[in-house]
Amino acid sequence: RMSEEFDTPVFLRTTTRVSHSKSIVELEEPERKTEKRNIRHDPSKYVMVPAKARERRIEVEKRMDRLRAFAETFAENRMEMQDTRVGIITAGMPYNYAKDAFPDYSYLKLGMVHPLPSDLIREFASKVDKIYVVEELDSFIEEQVRAMGIEVIGKEVFPYTGEFDPGIVEIGVTSNVAEGVTLPELSLPQRPPNLCPGCPHRGLFYVLGKLKVFVTGDIGCYTLSFMKPLEGLDSCVCMGASVGMAHGMDKVLEEKGRVVGVLGDSTFIHSGITPLLNMVYNKSNAVVVICDNRTTAMTGMQEHPATGFTLQGAATKALDFVVLAKALGIDNVQVVDPFDIKNTRRVIKEELSREGPSLVISRAPCALLAIKKKAGLRVPLRIDPDKCTGCKACLGLGCPPISWQRLEDMEEMKIEKKTKKQEGIAMIDSALCDGCTLCQQLCSAGAIEEVAEDE
Ligand code: SF4
Ligand code: SF4
Repeated sequence: RMSEEFDTPVFLRTTTRVSHSKSIVELEEPERKTEKRNIRHDPSKYVMVPAKARERRIEVEKRMDRLRAFAETFAENRMEMQDTRVGIITAGMPYNYAKDAFPDYSYLKLGMVHPLPSDLIREFASKVDKIYVVEELDSFIEEQVRAMGIEVIGKEVFPYTGEFDPGIVEIGVTSNVAEGVTLPELSLPQRPPNLCPGCPHRGLFYVLGKLKVFVTGDIGCYTLSFMKPLEGLDSCVCMGASVGMAHGMDKVLEEKGRVVGVLGDSTFIHSGITPLLNMVYNKSNAVVVICDNRTTAMTGMQEHPATGFTLQGAATKALDFVVLAKALGIDNVQVVDPFDIKNTRRVIKEELSREGPSLVISRAPCALLAIKKKAGLRVPLRIDPDKCTGCKACLGLGCPPISWQRLEDMEEMKIEKKTKKQEGIAMIDSALCDGCTLCQQLCSAGAIEEVAEDE
């Protein structure tokens, strides 16, 4: 409604913490336009040649004036007056942190941060003795409030970096008082995110990590492969950067077989096609791998143009990556199953040695897709402690169900050492295992087997 009323784009900016929150949402019926839509010819607005752009700039300034007036009465810009010795100006998640730390102070909670409601800010400032501006990262609100001639405390007590929490806000506010505060020190074990058990990316990045090539990555679940033990990804800059960076590095290195660009299927469609065409046009020798897990996994399993379904679930034409690559002029195109480690290694090595750009499509559905569709579920695996030699090869996959147990901690099991140097055995938590067989392929002792039906 605001967008229509002010004839302007409106950005609802969600930050990480909001995006990672869950809550009950009350839905309202969307407002539907009743009048018939029609084409409006208005080149003075829609054709931004310099002469028209200069005219539109005047309209933009008029619009900003109207938005400033709107911000003064916008319901989400609100004063919450309580203890007036301290007033806090804040917006977004920092409001919750500040409220947790100081529920009794007065607040000016801004729901719209551009343009700011200057009259409302002045009114709030006149009602409180001292003002803190609590905002994460840059001092966006603080600088504008200071420019109004209002004295505030902000980045001199709150950090410019990282996320806030109630403790950081509390320290910032109380750092002005002589006694200060001491927050309890927490020592919690780290729980870094990991690829899921049965993730198809694990096999691919295991191979890439072992090949010691430079892998220009992109943003997706597979970005997690940069961590130990896989260490199969060397860069992640922005969406679509993987292909352009692989091409650029290939040109600089002037040596075949050292760079692989990797990106997901939906990311490839979003921003990988144009740089792939550029690779063909500019005679690249780099290899690009599409991690084709048949969905947009990281953001919640959305369909995309290669899945054959629209976002609304209707059947539609599916983009064929092989046909597209051939049409772009890539002669070397291969499809591999990343759950087959040996063949994946063979294909990537083959393409690294070929002249010209190559495309490898690493295709297997996301593990969560199989659970969602209740199809393609596999039998979980277990490790026979009497066969495991403790070689640790399976641990190199970094798969969550696989753990390491020291023999000295399990003397009651009376496990015989298979080698002099054996220190322990690997174990699989079968309740978590997807049965993808990657670990089984690495176990030369044949210790990894399917869980029997009656187990
Ligand atoms: S089969 Fe092995 S690699 Fe695959 S999910 Fe189970 S433990 Fe992990
Ligand atoms: S690869 Fe096999 S032998 Fe080696 S630690 Fe794992 S289960 Fe044991």
